[in-house]
Amino acid sequence: MTAHSGRHFLQIPGPTNVPDRVLRAIAQPTIDHRGPEFADLAKDLLQRVRPVFGTSGPVVIYPSSGTAAWEAALVNTLSPGDRVLAFETGHFATLWRQMAERLGLEVEFVPGDWRHGVDPAAVAEHLNTDTAHRISAVMVVHNETSTGVTSQIPEIRAAIDEAEHPALLLVDTISSLGSIDYRHEEWGVDVTVGCSQKGLMLPPGLGFNAISEKALTASRTAKLPRSYFEWSAILDANEQGFFPYTPATNLLYGLREACLMLEEEGLANVFARHDRHAAATRAAVRGWGLEVLCADEREYSSSLTAVLVGGAHDADKVRRIILDRFDMSLGTGLGKLAGRVFRIGHLGDFNDLTLAGTLAGVQMGLELSGVTVDPGGLQDALEVLRGE
Ligand code: PLP
Repeated sequence: MTAHSGRHFLQIPGPTNVPDRVLRAIAQPTIDHRGPEFADLAKDLLQRVRPVFGTSGPVVIYPSSGTAAWEAALVNTLSPGDRVLAFETGHFATLWRQMAERLGLEVEFVPGDWRHGVDPAAVAEHLNTDTAHRISAVMVVHNETSTGVTSQIPEIRAAIDEAEHPALLLVDTISSLGSIDYRHEEWGVDVTVGCSQKGLMLPPGLGFNAISEKALTASRTAKLPRSYFEWSAILDANEQGFFPYTPATNLLYGLREACLMLEEEGLANVFARHDRHAAATRAAVRGWGLEVLCADEREYSSSLTAVLVGGAHDADKVRRIILDRFDMSLGTGLGKLAGRVFRIGHLGDFNDLTLAGTLAGVQMGLELSGVTVDPGGLQDALEVLRGE
């Protein structure tokens, strides 16, 4: 590997660049997780994290990746043989479906083209047909990290309500939390699944479930086997500021710092910053003469952009050249999209000049890979960043 000077550009759509403030917080000495100092930290944190999810209710924190938080959402609310409604929006929706099947759930999986989000009309159609209310939950990936498409949760909620269907709404916000507007409580979501390594600007290692009253009630009768993931045991211990197992103490220091950073900037400003950077990225893509994978402008993702390289070009070759020459990591094409797209992450600890550097690296990498691009693409992005 070539030796590089300067900072690596980690522009995959998560894990994201961890701010120095958060790294320093994590570097504090590990304390007794059953002592009073820890209890103070945990009590503060368990409140502080709620606004990030847009909830005043409980948020369970696991020492886990996002995948485990998916599993926790399912095993706490559902029983063997329950039917769930899911949508093929991309790679992660497909993996979540696979998990549900492995756990013994019956999945009604609505096919998709990996360029659109969940169609609220399809939600309505499937729920209206389910007059016996066999469907126990609707599973939605808010921001499909494999495609850069964001589904409209309020419209999906409205479709469930119009169908007067009692299904729970389970939403994966793994690549939207802390980057794209999201409101667990206001939007009537029952379980919100999150994790640490994207908009929260932390290293990987924390998974989250924000839980509604309805989900909590469902968990009292849900029969899928669970032990480590059992919400009630964790919520009981959390009351005193503790966990029923050894928590990831140092990541919790980092989480407190990350929450402070989001509070200082203000969530509305954080979301607006991501919207602006996404718009500038799309301006560059269009200016280059390339295509954004997301086919509906109402569903553009503000945390990442998937770019179709087109023709016979190999997107992974472009990524390789960019990594070798400019020390920047971009997201690979996942599943069906392998080789056809690369993904630019523009989420987390990120500013105008980080984006300008990122897009300059992408443009040079495309040129070096032999993809024909109009160099005006970068200029178009800079114009969006400069603004009026
Ligand atoms: N869901 C989405 C939308 C994701 O982007 C990811 C990971 O990138 C996951 C789930 C899985 O999370 P993890 O890799 O932390 O287990």
